Amino acid sequence: MSDPRDIVIVGSGPAGLTAALYTARANLHPVVVEGFAAGGQLMLTTDVENFPGFPEGIMGPELMARIREQAERFGAELVTADAERVDLSSRPFRVTVGSAEYTAEAVIITTGASARMLGLPDEARLLGHGVSTCATCDGFFFRDQEIAVVGGGDSAVEEAVFLTKFASKVTLIHRRDELRASKIMQERAFANPKLELRWNAVVEALHGETKLERATLRDTVTGECSELAVTGMFMAIGHTPSTSLFEGQLDLDENGYIVTAPGSTSTSVEGVFAAGDVQDHVFRQAITAAGSGCMAAIEAERWIEGARHPAAAR
Ligand code: NAP
Repeated sequence: MSDPRDIVIVGSGPAGLTAALYTARANLHPVVVEGFAAGGQLMLTTDVENFPGFPEGIMGPELMARIREQAERFGAELVTADAERVDLSSRPFRVTVGSAEYTAEAVIITTGASARMLGLPDEARLLGHGVSTCATCDGFFFRDQEIAVVGGGDSAVEEAVFLTKFASKVTLIHRRDELRASKIMQERAFANPKLELRWNAVVEALHGETKLERATLRDTVTGECSELAVTGMFMAIGHTPSTSLFEGQLDLDENGYIVTAPGSTSTSVEGVFAAGDVQDHVFRQAITAAGSGCMAAIEAERWIEGARHPAAAR
């Protein structure tokens, strides 16, 4: 067991590292269990052009390296391993990492979410080279190009409509003959002249040497295959929050996201805070994740102070 800590942060995307930066500057000596796949979803992104402060853009991994360096500069301790168990049943809370156990007065959870992928052989290779999971992040790169979106829910329709601002044509590929998206979103899609629906279709394969050039689609009714020439394909088939460690310990919503109080990062357990995509399925941006990481740090700091000096906190 290691020394008792003020704060353990689990997760190291923009939310976790911003929480680390703030709590380190508040002299709370945070330990960040950053995971073996440290850095979160930005590690899978190429150019980030919408993070304020980088007018010429920055590569996702470089942005994460810089935020990490900034947190370390103020004394955040980073542990490059996965948290295997988290016990939030009593204080101090316990986080198990291999043979080490960290105990802490407060825990900030920033384990994020991952975009679901189709699982095609070339999908990972072409991610960032035509294949994307974030229209807001990457739409701009597909100006005047023919692209596709996969999915039939609100995300897919919203992204497809958004992408028509840039692309010359957007094909929305859905595996059934009816969209799951809300009626109002569907109406927007049907009314958009740049958006074409491809019903009863699944993507069988992606092709392109260095970047996406076309996809093979299979008709789920006839079984026939056809080729679709696209330079971009946005996967919008849902996200999975990384919350398995907290099941049964924290309130999660029906999709598995951690429930936080409105306007706050506090969870159903006092002293446990959640920030970033693990509790946000709406905005999902690096900057909003960083913002909520800052909120979690400030709330955790106040909570620790209040727990230590209850009279002064009143
Ligand atoms: P979702 O509602 O779960 O929809 C996922 C879509 O992807 C479904 O149409 C599903 O097809 C399809 N899909 C799943 N796995 C697939 C696969 N392997 N191959 C092909 N297609 C696959 O997810 P979401 O659209 O990300 O939305 C998540 C939640 O956020 C929802 O509650 C949604 O309402 C909400 N949201 C709201 C807004 C808004 O209000 N502006 C915007 C975005 C999201 P099937 O339909 O056949 O199952």
